[in-house]
Amino acid sequence: MYDFIIIGGGILGMSTAMQLIRAYPDKKMLLVEKEDGPARHQTGHNSGVIHAGVYYTPGSLKARFCLEGNRATKAFCDEHGIAYDECGKLLVATNDLELQRMQALWERTEANGLERFWLSRNELHEREPNIVGVGGIFVPSSGIVSYAEVAAAMGREFEAAGGEIRYATSVTGLEERSGEVVVSTGRGEFTTRHLVSCSGLMADRVVRMLGIEPDFTICPFRGEYYRLPPEHNRIVNHLIYPIPDPSMPFLGVHLTRMIDGSVTVGPNAVLAWKREGYQKTDISFSDSLAMLRHSGIRKVLKANLRPGLIELKNSLYKKGYLEEVRKYCPSLTLDDLEPYPAGVRAQAVSNDGKLVDDFLFVNTRRTVNVCNAPSPAATSAIPIGAHIVEQVKAQVEN
Ligand SMILES: Cc1cc2nc3c(=O)[nH]c(=O)nc-3n(C[C@H](O)[C@H](O)[C@H](O)COP(=O)(O)OP(=O)(O)OC[C@H]3O[C@@H](n4cnc5c(N)ncnc54)[C@H](O)[C@@H]3O)c2cc1C
Repeated sequence: MYDFIIIGGGILGMSTAMQLIRAYPDKKMLLVEKEDGPARHQTGHNSGVIHAGVYYTPGSLKARFCLEGNRATKAFCDEHGIAYDECGKLLVATNDLELQRMQALWERTEANGLERFWLSRNELHEREPNIVGVGGIFVPSSGIVSYAEVAAAMGREFEAAGGEIRYATSVTGLEERSGEVVVSTGRGEFTTRHLVSCSGLMADRVVRMLGIEPDFTICPFRGEYYRLPPEHNRIVNHLIYPIPDPSMPFLGVHLTRMIDGSVTVGPNAVLAWKREGYQKTDISFSDSLAMLRHSGIRKVLKANLRPGLIELKNSLYKKGYLEEVRKYCPSLTLDDLEPYPAGVRAQAVSNDGKLVDDFLFVNTRRTVNVCNAPSPAATSAIPIGAHIVEQVKAQVEN
């Protein structure tokens, strides 16, 4: 019998495991992950940005945890010798409408307590000669890192403290009884006093294994990237982001300096017809049918038909994708967009047709289940893990 089992070897599972064993060093703990190693899904397929907390609704978990997570991630990297770069981020307005939206973002950054600087057209040009715009916001605390490395280091710390990790172990069933939870896996059955699920793209399915019918479903959105050729590795000095359309849930195609020195363009956001479908051609009949049957997803598709079709067009035609980035980086050409692996976001959609904005947890007596943890959840992994440990402690004490 384990005291705690954690499902998921992404950054949230690893962060939770690491902090749970710090809180309960004498307890027996197991982390199970269905893949052969850590960080094989969202954690290993993202932009690697240590977000500062620009966009999030003041007072939300996202706003709070992102700000704390920005500092905590850098401190963790310092302690563990993991490379990161506090390169700062520029939000670039390219027309008057975006300038108005930038003003609203400026106010939001004030409410979220961020250090930031308003840049005129000339100041923007001085900082970034290859970027054009009518103004910008400079946020110095944004940075870059490899979250796969961070997650792996958290896993090593968990194991060094006596925690056990079993890879290639997929959870197939859960049963919560009066004093325990029975966890069925492809490699046998385990019992535990408490369970935490950080299962990303499978979050709703894990909740359903507990016999709960969730009032949301996970909708997979593929984020497709390109990489610039090495001669463009110094094309920008910071991370370059467009001013997002407030009616859209994602941030828009950005130019991201990666920790390996390369620069990526992306990600876009297209509906994925398979939960872990990284290629455009990946389609799962059962995943697609479940999505089309979900009234919330149908409402989201209907409400976002036009932007959804534009994203799809730009996904299929590289030229459309290029135009998105040429709005602020006009020197790029089609030949500059080289292939780069995509990621798939786990976005919870409520039954009434809303993209769930904040981080979401569904708890039972002996379980804590992370149900919506999109960006900036990698940045926020340490405070999210601490928050989960607090919820587990409350369950242990009851
Ligand atoms: C394209 C893209 C760009 C992003 N950019 C950023 C960024 O720049 N900055 C940022 O902060 N965030 C970013 N994010 C978000 C961030 O990557 C995620 O929020 C974060 O990685 C979520 O971590 P996780 O551990 O919840 O999920 P995951 O990393 O997906 O891990 C979940 C794990 O659970 C396992 N699992 C699922 N079901 C089972 C089961 N039944 N049994 C056993 N194991 C199971 C999976 O195999 C997986 O390894 C981005 C995401 C994407 C997709």
